[in-house]
Amino acid sequence: MSRHIPRKRFGQNFLQDPRTIEDIVDAVNPARDDLVVEIGPGLGAITRPLLARLNHLHVVEIDRDIIARLRRTFTATQLTIHEGDALAFDFAALGTPLKIVGNLPYNISTPLLFHLASFGTQVTDMHFMLQKEVVDRMVAEPGTADYGRLSVMLQYRFYMERMLDVPPEAFDPPPKVDSAVVRMIPHPTLPHQAQDEQQLAHIVQVAFAQRRKTLRNNLKGVLDDEGFATLGIDPGIRPENLPVGGFVAICNYLTAQPGGAV
Ligand code: SAM
Repeated sequence: MSRHIPRKRFGQNFLQDPRTIEDIVDAVNPARDDLVVEIGPGLGAITRPLLARLNHLHVVEIDRDIIARLRRTFTATQLTIHEGDALAFDFAALGTPLKIVGNLPYNISTPLLFHLASFGTQVTDMHFMLQKEVVDRMVAEPGTADYGRLSVMLQYRFYMERMLDVPPEAFDPPPKVDSAVVRMIPHPTLPHQAQDEQQLAHIVQVAFAQRRKTLRNNLKGVLDDEGFATLGIDPGIRPENLPVGGFVAICNYLTAQPGGAV
């Protein structure tokens, strides 16, 4: 087959380091009958070793040239190819329980993570290669500079673990940034349950609108000092110092107020 010219607009950095590929597949550790979907199979660096351990694999790919190559390489019994944008893909339609894997296109990683989080209840686990800086933000603890909207919204639903750091040389072409692999496992029972998850997303967005300002300032018009006092939350702290449970408490307090959502 002729060489595929990597497309920047689809975030195409193909894994080439055998050790990294093996480590990812070991981390996923699929059983033969598992229901697994890979996002962005590309030239098959992870697809091939996954298929060696699976009876069948689903993939979601946007690039038509790559899809044609995949059709020439794998049989339909081995691989079901879903053509299109992972951002719009209904992962729930594949069935449950589902394992999701991908060396993700970095240019859409944040919206893709939010899209994938909405399938939390159908999923056993997810393993993703991402820009290292994004993984830092996902797993960040409160009180650190990396803790923000992404940390709160993902930690609300998932237990997350950094699996390995990956240097640019592991890819062809090498990306300009370091990468890391993260494991996401949905909490069997949410440690803090928001009564209204849309409200939670809204509050977290507003609370972090200006990181260097206090919660009181960011939540002006949303939560008054009486509300902060009832909840036992210091309005003078910055949003990065409030743990996930604090955001959920604010959300549930507001949901319970006459008039409900903000
Ligand atoms: N898995 C391969 C590997 O590890 O070498 C390729 C990884 S490459 C970083 C990202 C892959 O995602 C490419 O195959 C790209 O075409 C595909 N892709 C990019 N945007 C996508 C989207 N919105 N939906 C589905 N696939 C996408």
